[in-house]
Amino acid sequence: MTTANEHQRPKLVDGMGRTIVNLRISVTDRCNFRCTYCMPADNVEFMDRKELLSFEEIARIVEIVSSLGINRLRLTGGEPTMRKDLPVLVAMLSKIKGIDDIAMTTNAFFLKDQARALKEAGLQRLNVSLDSLDPEKFRHVNRRDCLQQVLEGLRTAAETGFKSIKINAVAIRNFSETEIMGLIEMGRSEGFEIRFIEFMPLDSDEVWEKNKVLFGHEIVAIVKRKYDLVPVNESLDIGPASEYQFADGKGKIGIITAVSNPFCDHCNRIRMTADGKLRTCLFSTAEYDLKDMVRSGAADAEIAATIQYAVQLKEPGHKINLDDFERPRRAMHAIGG
Ligand code: SAM
Ligand code: SF4
Repeated sequence: MTTANEHQRPKLVDGMGRTIVNLRISVTDRCNFRCTYCMPADNVEFMDRKELLSFEEIARIVEIVSSLGINRLRLTGGEPTMRKDLPVLVAMLSKIKGIDDIAMTTNAFFLKDQARALKEAGLQRLNVSLDSLDPEKFRHVNRRDCLQQVLEGLRTAAETGFKSIKINAVAIRNFSETEIMGLIEMGRSEGFEIRFIEFMPLDSDEVWEKNKVLFGHEIVAIVKRKYDLVPVNESLDIGPASEYQFADGKGKIGIITAVSNPFCDHCNRIRMTADGKLRTCLFSTAEYDLKDMVRSGAADAEIAATIQYAVQLKEPGHKINLDDFERPRRAMHAIGG
């Protein structure tokens, strides 16, 4: 539904005619997990803390992007809940004119303690990453033995009353096949949409190969052995996931076919790393240094012009499936997934 507000809002449109409404903000590259598809097992080199944007610097940039037309934010990382006083940032962002929606992607480990404060500060929606409900498989893929804490965090978040909670599971061949139905049953009984994300070449270990991706159509086939699914047609307009409704009306699933059928034509997002670099694609090889501008005294108009320039040049699409694909230098935890 279009509101009166939206008609008055400025529009940030890229060179391909896509309207950019969404900024993903990484608040830290640190994480308490070491998921195999994201970080190395050990010896991670993290950003120097003084390189991280302060809350005031983040809020200033959000005011600028909001004046350009962005109205949706997602906090991510690294693990965003590891950033000290995160609810303070959420409260600052939720007061910014033009920001209608603030979401966060998290591994849920700290949600038991933080969910309430984050909700009260203005966080509206959550995506919780959870690849398996089996403690051994969880430990294997996330390299931490803490499924119970994650489930407790999820439970607390559910009780806290967020507008929506979705579960993200990375789809990995020879791993996820056996985990899918357990996650689906939990989603159906507890009201979470489960979203499967095809494993992308953003792992620090650089072990990604196309044959390690469990493809979206294979996931749908597994679910269909038990449940009839009805595609939700308009889902591409609101996000990267193709959504399917269970025919019995009991919930939805989402499939993010980032590798087998990229959604780049519909991409409506840009990203900012914890050290203040603007990236116009998850797979960008170029970055724009907003932190340097903020710290060297640039005026809002100059920063806005840089953002508009970057958006004009936003990549038409990623090249995972092409011969000239180049891996970004940063791994997922340092970009902000
Ligand atoms: N630490 C938080 C978490 O895990 O939810 C937020 C950051 S994490 C980088 C954001 C999302 O990216 C998570 O849902 C994670 O599963 C996903 N992700 C990480 N590496 C990925 C990869 N190589 N391919 C696909 N998704 C990935
Ligand atoms: Fe940490 Fe999230 Fe990366 Fe896992 S996916 S290592 S929880 S940043």
